[in-house]
Amino acid sequence: MSSAVGFIGIGNMGRPMSRNLAAAGFDVTVFDLNVDAARAHANAHGLTVAETMAGLAACDRIVTMLPDGKAVRAAMLGENGAAPHLAAGTVLIDMSSADPVGTQELGAELAAKGLAMVDAPVSGAVPRAEDGTLTIMVGSDNPALAERARPVLAGMGKEIVHTGPLGSGHAMKALNNYVAATGFAAVSEALIVGQKFGLEPGKMVEIMNTSTGRNFMTDLVMKPHVLDEAFATGFALALLSKDVGIAEDLASSLDMDARLLHTSAVMWREALADLPTGADNSEAYKAWRDRMSGGTT
Ligand code: NAD
Repeated sequence: MSSAVGFIGIGNMGRPMSRNLAAAGFDVTVFDLNVDAARAHANAHGLTVAETMAGLAACDRIVTMLPDGKAVRAAMLGENGAAPHLAAGTVLIDMSSADPVGTQELGAELAAKGLAMVDAPVSGAVPRAEDGTLTIMVGSDNPALAERARPVLAGMGKEIVHTGPLGSGHAMKALNNYVAATGFAAVSEALIVGQKFGLEPGKMVEIMNTSTGRNFMTDLVMKPHVLDEAFATGFALALLSKDVGIAEDLASSLDMDARLLHTSAVMWREALADLPTGADNSEAYKAWRDRMSGGTT
């Protein structure tokens, strides 16, 4: 194994993750459709930039940190994709949050070309990407492949958990984000109803944080991002809505009627429809507040 790692997708998460990987001693070459952004990032942190996918040919491990599974497929097998440039045996480590069934299909198509794949999505958001303390959920059909990915993952995360076969990391990630997203929806509704009754929302969050209603959102999101109106978690509304949709599709593909999951997915899609492109996920609160008060605030 060489120390050469390709990193495709230099967005909010990919920037700190690729930087940490280089700090851990890997020789990192970055690629992004936004070549100027990739070049600026590479120059700022001593990484190499690939202007095209051909620039990743020397890497025997490729990390993808892209919006969804469609983008991962395009980056590997699409026009100007990476696959034709990679040596047989190269491992794709897909750290994006993608749909598990699409991941299994992509893994089979790559295998037919002599390339291997593991899924390794992350949780912890931008602050833990920066600290290198992400939780990483690894799906792999082959323990030897997971072991080839592990040193790379250790450069970006703290908890590295093997979840089962290829696609299982992506299934776990989508279900985790369903729980997180629905926690946010529940707290939002509680604050909006409580405020109309006359409760003070800041005090409500404080009380929840020492009560049984406490969760990640009450702890770290509601006050700084919603009540103080920063709306800047670094995690786009479109991406969280996508994740809840992946969990919903997973339940449907298993012929399961998951009612709360379906309701949550509808609420996130409505927020996405109501808010401007590029909105932060925490801004969903505003869309739901408007809908709950009949379109006015
Ligand atoms: P982002 O939109 O900030 O970055 C995505 C990057 O991918 C962009 O720079 C874009 O130009 C690039 N890109 C898109 N298609 C491409 C292609 N075909 N080839 C090359 N580059 C391409 O997204 P992000 O917030 O960094 O999230 C990335 C992934 O991580 C998503 O799947 C998201 O759901 C997941 N995730 C995000 C967070 C978070 O807090 N932001 C946390 C955990 C997981």
